[in-house]
Amino acid sequence: MSILRLLDFTLGIFVQSALKRRIRPRVLQLPITGRCNSRCITCGVWKTRAPREDVDPEALKSILQDPFFSSVHSVGVNGGEPSLHPAPGELADSLLTLKRLKRIYVISNGVHTAKVLAMMETLKAKCAARGVRVHLTISVDGVGDVHNSVRGAPTFDKTAHTLREVQARQSRYCDVLEAGVTLSARNVARVAETSAFLDRLQVAAWYHPAVPNKRLHNFDDHSFDLLSSERTAMLAAELFFARFKDKANGLKARLRAYLTFRYLLSGGRKRLAGCNYLRSDLTITENLDLYLCAVASERVGSLRSASPQELLRSGAFARAEQALRERCAACGHYIIFPTPGGALQFAAALLKPAVWVSYLMAAARVRLQTAAQRLSPLQGFRQKSKTAPAQVPAPAQGQASASTASTAWQE
Ligand code: SF4
Repeated sequence: MSILRLLDFTLGIFVQSALKRRIRPRVLQLPITGRCNSRCITCGVWKTRAPREDVDPEALKSILQDPFFSSVHSVGVNGGEPSLHPAPGELADSLLTLKRLKRIYVISNGVHTAKVLAMMETLKAKCAARGVRVHLTISVDGVGDVHNSVRGAPTFDKTAHTLREVQARQSRYCDVLEAGVTLSARNVARVAETSAFLDRLQVAAWYHPAVPNKRLHNFDDHSFDLLSSERTAMLAAELFFARFKDKANGLKARLRAYLTFRYLLSGGRKRLAGCNYLRSDLTITENLDLYLCAVASERVGSLRSASPQELLRSGAFARAEQALRERCAACGHYIIFPTPGGALQFAAALLKPAVWVSYLMAAARVRLQTAAQRLSPLQGFRQKSKTAPAQVPAPAQGQASASTASTAWQE
C-alpha cells in the first residue's frame, strides 16, 4: 500500500468511525450476473425464481460516471458466476471509465474453463493497457467429493483444470491468482486436505467463513454456518489460530487470521474488525439496485431511477445505515482491518504471546477458584485462615457463622 493510499484509508476510517460521516465509496462490489452453474449449499442465488439478470454495461457506465464514484479504486466482480455474463469485454470498458481504478478482483467457480479463460483474457488485456491490476480468485472448497458436496455438483475436476490452465499462462489472464476456500460446517473438518492440495499446486489460498448473506439469499438458513455447532466453530478457530501463529504468512494474513480466530472464539458475538460498508463502500447488484453491504443491508434504491446524490438527499442512505448498524457487531464478513481495540489485542498477541496466554490462563484460574469457593465452604475457610486469624463477624440472627458452618462440615 502506498503512503498516499494509507493516508487516504486512515483519514477515511477516522471520518467514518469518529465523526460518523459518510464518505465517497473506495470499493464497489459488483455481482454482475444472477446466472450460476453451481448449486452451492452456502448460497441461494441459484434457487431464486427471479429472471436471471445480467448487468447492462451501458447503463453501468453511465452510472459510474457520476462524480459520486470518483474515488473508487477497487471493484469486486462476482455473481452468480461472472464468466456467464454475455459481454465481459463491454463490462470491462464500463469499469475502466472509473478514473482512479487500480484493481479489479474477480471471483469465479472455475467450472466452465473456456468461458473463464476468455473472460479473463479480455479483462486482463484491457486492464493492462490502463495499468489496472487484475486479481483472480477461484473457489476451491475441498478436494474431490468434499468440493462437489459443497458445490452441489461434480465440478471439482473442472475447477482444478481451470486453476491449472490459468496458472500455466498466468500473465495472460491475471496479475494475481489465488484460491478462495469458503469454510462451512460441511468442509471444515477436511480443510487440511484442501490446503495440501493447494500447496502442491503452489497456489496461494485465502480462507474465510461462509456467512449468512441477504444478497446470496441464505440469510435465514444457518445450516452451513460454522457457528451452527461448537465443534465446527472450534475446528475453524484452530485453523485460523494456526494461520495467525505461522510466521511464514505475511502480517496482513496473520492479522486477518487473528481477527477471524477471535470472532469464532466468541461464538460470533464479538467482532474486532471495522467495516467500510456501513458508511462508504457499496454494492451494486446485477439489476442496478444499490445496497450498502451484501450481508444485511436493505436496498438503498435503484440506480436506474435515481442518482446516488438523490438517494443521499432523500435520506435513503441514512435509513439503510440505521437499519444495518445493529447487525455489524456480530457480522463475520469482511474481517480485514482491526478496530483500535482489535489492533491492540493483535499487537499484544503478536509481540508477547506469553502475556496473552498467561492472561487467559489467569482469567480461567480465577473463574475456577471463584466457582470452587462458591461450592465448597471448606475451600473458603482454608484460604481465609492462611492469611489472617479468623475475624468472624457475628452471625445475623438465624444464620450460622462461617466457622460454625465449616466445623459442622468437618464433623
Ligand atoms: S453487516 Fe457486516 S458487512 Fe455489513 S456493514 Fe456491518 S460489518 Fe460490514
